[in-house]
Amino acid sequence: MADKINIAIDGFSGSGKSTLAKDLAERLSYLFIDTGSMYRAVSLFALQEGLFKDGQLQTQLLIDCLDVLHVDFAFNEEEGKYCVRLNGMEVEKDIRGLEVSNVVSQVAAVAEVRKKLVALQRHLGMSKGVVMDGRDIGTVVFPDAELKIFVTTSAEERAQRRYAQLRSKGEDVNYDEVLNNIQSRDKMDTEREASPLRQAADAKLLDNQRMNRLEQLQVALKWVEETLN
Ligand code: C5P
Repeated sequence: MADKINIAIDGFSGSGKSTLAKDLAERLSYLFIDTGSMYRAVSLFALQEGLFKDGQLQTQLLIDCLDVLHVDFAFNEEEGKYCVRLNGMEVEKDIRGLEVSNVVSQVAAVAEVRKKLVALQRHLGMSKGVVMDGRDIGTVVFPDAELKIFVTTSAEERAQRRYAQLRSKGEDVNYDEVLNNIQSRDKMDTEREASPLRQAADAKLLDNQRMNRLEQLQVALKWVEETLN
């Protein structure tokens, strides 16, 4: 086995997969790529350009804009990590609120959007040593990833975690609206036609309902070790 591998982490919204991916990347000195932030950046663009009518994405209008829409990552010294950019502007802080969360699954269901972002993701993972998290990493983006992990937890637990996170950032949200958002994204992400969320046949299942951050990292590190040996 080569000394660097690619690690694909998929799972439901708010399952803690980004935290796990970040922790793994830090421990292994790998590059962490949060692909959800890319779909969120495109969603921010669609909101800024007024591409929704009565809450519905005007799909063709977005497709027509894809050529002038540029998503990439740049290292932010202050944050000590790569942050997503939309047309050259860092948008990390603008993409995490409920406004974007409420529309992102509509945007992510558009096959043309997925095609553009998947090409970019594959490019980023070309030289190995990447931990990438999302919904289709083990099934579509890197079906040959050496290690695939599928993270899961109940919707209520995920909503509780996301609610606490948003409140700690000063967002004025209530628990029910966060739970509704999680449940409707689960539904759209698993039922969409283009690359629906599902566990790859060869992915390891990590149910972290009763695990803390360190415990889930230890489970994953053991899998990394097994994969490398
Ligand atoms: O991971 P996060 O919750 O930030 O992702 C936001 C949304 O982006 C998901 O609900 C899903 O609709 C979409 N997504 C996707 N494929 C990925 C990553 C995210 O469809 N690889």
